[in-house]
Amino acid sequence: MGENSNLNFIKCPKCNAKTKLAYSFNTTFANLPIYCQNCKQTTIMSLLNGILSTKTSWTN
Ligand SMILES: [Zn+2]
Repeated sequence: MGENSNLNFIKCPKCNAKTKLAYSFNTTFANLPIYCQNCKQTTIMSLLNGILSTKTSWTN
């Protein structure tokens, strides 16, 4: 337990590419802008109690 195999990489909801951000079962964040290097868009995501949710996109 507690090794890197327990980490999941956050996937971009637009293109489904892995971002560089990984999370574990006890990770929590709210309204975090996550940049995707593949499609070059930023998505606001929240992770609470193991549930990843996506908000509306960051528009430039
Ligand atoms: Zn993407």
